[in-house]
Amino acid sequence: MAIQRTFSIIKPDATERNLTGAVNAVIEKAGLRIIGQRRIKMTREQAERFYDVHKERPFFGELVDFMTSGPVVVQVLEGENAVKAYRDVMGATNPTEAADGTIRKLFAKSIGENSVHGSDSEENAAIEIAQFFSLADIVG
Ligand code: ATP
Ligand code: MG
Repeated sequence: MAIQRTFSIIKPDATERNLTGAVNAVIEKAGLRIIGQRRIKMTREQAERFYDVHKERPFFGELVDFMTSGPVVVQVLEGENAVKAYRDVMGATNPTEAADGTIRKLFAKSIGENSVHGSDSEENAAIEIAQFFSLADIVG
C-alpha cells in the first residue's frame, strides 16, 4: 500500500452543529493526517462544478442548494490508501446503512445532509484537490 491523498468536505449540516472538531477527531483516529484545511462558503458555481457528475440526477438542485446553504470545510487528507480509508470511515451515503463508528452513522442527518464528502478514486481526488487548493496550501 502507498501513501495517498484524498479530498474531503465537512458539509453544512456538520458545520452548523459545530461538529468540525468531532469529525476531525474521527478522521485522525482513523490514521489520516489533515494536511490542508480551509473553511469557505461555496458559491453556486463552485458547487455545480464540483458535483457536475450528478447534474442529471433528480437531487442535483437540492444538493447544490444544500452545499451552498452554509460554511463547509474543505480538506486534503493523507495516509496509507487514503481514498479507501476515508470512504471506509465516512460510511455509506445513507446514514441508516452506515456501519457503527463511521462519521455518517455518528453524525449524518439524512442521505442528503450526510456530513461529509470523500473522493471516490485517486484520479478524482487529484481533480477535486486542484479545484480548492493551491500547492502552497498543502503541507504534508
Ligand atoms: P459524496 O460524493 O458526497 O462523498 P457519496 O459518494 O457517498 O457522497 P454520491 O452518490 O456521490 O454519494 O452522491 C453525492 C451526494 O449527493 C451525497 O453525498 C448526498 O449528499 C447527495 N445525494 C445522493 N443521493 C441522494 C438522494 N437520493 N437524495 C438526496 N441527496 C442525495
Ligand atoms: Mg460521490
